[in-house]
Amino acid sequence: MCGIVGYVGRRPARELLLAGLRKLEYRGYDSAGISLMAEGRIEAVRAVGNLNALEAKLAVEDAAIAGKGAVAVAAQPATTGIGHTRWATHGRVSEENAHPHYDSGDRVHVVVNGIVENYMSLKERLSEQGNEFTSETDAEVIAHLIADHYDGDLADAVRRAYTELEGHYAFVAMCVDEPELLVGARKECPLIIGRGEGEQFVASAVPAFLAETRQVQFLDNDEIVILTPDGVTITTPAGEELERAVETVDWDEETAEKGGYETFMLKEIHEQADAVAETIADRVARGDGVDLDEEGALDEAILAGVKRVVVVACGTSYHAGLIGRYAI
Ligand code: GLU
Repeated sequence: MCGIVGYVGRRPARELLLAGLRKLEYRGYDSAGISLMAEGRIEAVRAVGNLNALEAKLAVEDAAIAGKGAVAVAAQPATTGIGHTRWATHGRVSEENAHPHYDSGDRVHVVVNGIVENYMSLKERLSEQGNEFTSETDAEVIAHLIADHYDGDLADAVRRAYTELEGHYAFVAMCVDEPELLVGARKECPLIIGRGEGEQFVASAVPAFLAETRQVQFLDNDEIVILTPDGVTITTPAGEELERAVETVDWDEETAEKGGYETFMLKEIHEQADAVAETIADRVARGDGVDLDEEGALDEAILAGVKRVVVVACGTSYHAGLIGRYAI
């Protein structure tokens, strides 16, 4: 799990993104980063650690590069940007592995929540084509893939990239050639749109933008969203436009953090169906039963040599672990 947030509008994006990330920090605090678009280029700032580390780095950059035209202190503050707070799944906790990730030409930046299962084969192909990878993550492949498909239309490139990606993820992309545009995609991981006047938000959870707007649209699986300051379009991966009602959430901030439920316990209970679906999605994706054969882990010869299985868990997982021990 990690948190993603995007803003496109007319106000300075940086503070809005940082405020959004603050609300998503519980989703991951290995590293954080933002990409801002201003004066014809995108600049990413990333730092290992929680959001305080990113804010400290931004402050140092502000001081060190003042007057040199960097995005952080540009005359025209960036009004388009994306942000991320990471819970690492693929690749160490390091600055190189922190999001946003970008393609070799530094034109497409992305923030990703989730896992790209087929990233190895895509990475191999894209590397052979001359793309240079700078991280160990599965997520970086999305930036290169979109750039590879890019032909002047980010939404189209995202749709084409989406059809090649396997796994469960949500991502938001921006491209230097289309400054007032964000394009997102959702497959099994949450992505919610916040509608404003002349500005739009997109995030992993409502609290990220609740202080700015209460008008929301919920994205479903297998949907692409195109956001500009003036509006939002939702399409299928084939480009067919979809209707989506704008809903008003009347939650206060505390209720929003609990997803509209009265307590965190109720929220967790109701989230179980989605949590289980997300967890097993890759294993049932191929449609012919449950696929548990991960890297030969269930190879009988290997299993025959196993002397001891240790289940490590605490809290409610401890009780799940006891059931697991019994089942094994
Ligand atoms: N798989 C991505 C990474 O490791 C995203 C992680 C997440 O969703 O927490 O960078």
